[in-house]
Amino acid sequence: MFKLLLPNQHVNSIFDIHPAELQKNGIKGIITDLDNTLVAWDVKDATPEITEWFRRMDDHNIKVTIISNNKMERVKIFSEPLGTPFVFSARKPLSHAYKRTTQEMELSKDAVVVIGDQILTDILGGNLAGFYTILVTPIVQTDGKVTRFNRKIERKILSYMRRKGKITWEE
Ligand SMILES: [Mg+2]
Repeated sequence: MFKLLLPNQHVNSIFDIHPAELQKNGIKGIITDLDNTLVAWDVKDATPEITEWFRRMDDHNIKVTIISNNKMERVKIFSEPLGTPFVFSARKPLSHAYKRTTQEMELSKDAVVVIGDQILTDILGGNLAGFYTILVTPIVQTDGKVTRFNRKIERKILSYMRRKGKITWEE
């Protein structure tokens, strides 16, 4: 069961994910979470660094779709200026949005990575749907109300897995 909660890879931030490396591994698409993965959950717009990250992916023909459990307004206001497709109210960890998005990107599962900061939604959802998953350290440790409960459980799971030697990164 714990296997489904383990990411394939962990990075400190989205900026540690480089298009050339992805290409080397045959990756042509990214499904990424928004809140605390791309920007802090209470930051409305993309930062210049994020805009640049999206541009670099585009330069390398890597398609990016934002999938968020957050509301339409939040996801739309953030995503539209970037010109990137997005899904709001995605109900992660259910796999529907992941599957539909992969079809829309016209890619196969093994050419897509799933990125996010939460184990119980992003990583579990990506793993259940059969994708390669990358966990990023949350940008800020605070959270919207909805995710606060998840975080508590998540911290317990992480410390359990750390004790068992299943994960090696530090928080
Ligand atoms: Mg998040």
